[in-house]
Amino acid sequence: MNSFPSRITVLAGGIGGARFLMGLLAHLRHTNPDGQGGTATVVTVIGNTGDDIWVHGVRVCPDLDTVMYTLGDGISKERGWGREGETFSAKDELAAYGVEPTWFGLGDKDLATHLIRTQSLASGFTLTEVTAALCDRWQPGVTLLPMSNERAETHVIVDDPDQGRIAIHFQEWWIRHRAALPAHGFVMVGIEDAKPAPGVLEAIHDTDLVIFPPSNPVVSIGAILQVPGIAEAVRTTKAPVIALSPIVGGAPVRGMADACLAALNIETTAAAVALHYGARSSGGFIDAWLIDTQDSESLGILEESGIRAKAIPLMMTDVDATALMAAQTLDFA
Ligand code: GDP
Ligand code: CA
Repeated sequence: MNSFPSRITVLAGGIGGARFLMGLLAHLRHTNPDGQGGTATVVTVIGNTGDDIWVHGVRVCPDLDTVMYTLGDGISKERGWGREGETFSAKDELAAYGVEPTWFGLGDKDLATHLIRTQSLASGFTLTEVTAALCDRWQPGVTLLPMSNERAETHVIVDDPDQGRIAIHFQEWWIRHRAALPAHGFVMVGIEDAKPAPGVLEAIHDTDLVIFPPSNPVVSIGAILQVPGIAEAVRTTKAPVIALSPIVGGAPVRGMADACLAALNIETTAAAVALHYGARSSGGFIDAWLIDTQDSESLGILEESGIRAKAIPLMMTDVDATALMAAQTLDFA
């Protein structure tokens, strides 16, 4: 492919996906400018909504908001989620009333986003429409689509000392338990009735390139691929599918993806995650896989499995380093 694809589709979770998109847009603005400070390449992001949760009466979409705030320059750079200059008075007041959950980080500025989303959903707008309306303010420079407009939330199977084997919401496991409760698996409640949101299948089929950024392979990309129809679209699109490893040197770069992989009996290595996705030439999801230079010993295994692989620096330390990573992704594709 030449270095100016006109359409790119990215399947994204939260922090890893958003950081990669920052670098991708920086690279595209530089190499394929539109003359107005943006890029002529149309970037469509299919966002994970498996992490979504109702909390204190509002609908929260953590991964969509992380992408929107990061690309709109409103993200807390220190935390990587939620708003810069955030306060937590509403959360503290709710806790003072003794109302659960007290473990969910609901910021005051962030709450405005959730209130608008909740009101709009209640008056009949779809999540696609609401997300577009919120993006009018943030101007993320991409078309941000939820994977589905139906509710399909990831739950984690764990052992409770009193109740035995139960399923708890992903956010309760991830935030409250810091993913330390051994997980026996994940189930997406409602996934059978979920449909890809409008534009999602088209974005996978009618594109020059599909990218899996370094997002969580189980609960971010894995969740998107579970929406009926999306896996098939990724398997059959004529566009190449290239992915970047979120695992470097046998560990997630940040977060607890190792706990998610362990639940599926997948080793926490770049190669094991690639083999989990599988080569498209043998019914899997990816054509090519980028690993970090420190994992280059696994290049041979990957090529044998039919996945084209290359080792480059994969640490998204700043936007420049990430833009270079994005440039090398497009070159390799
Ligand atoms: P979440 O929804 O906020 O958990 O975000 P994602 O699913 O998009 O991404 C989480 C993944 O990003 C984690 O598994 C991290 O290992 C990975 N990640 C974070 N920073 C980096 C980085 O600098 N380089 C690479 N290769 N992966 C990263
Ligand atoms: Ca997430």
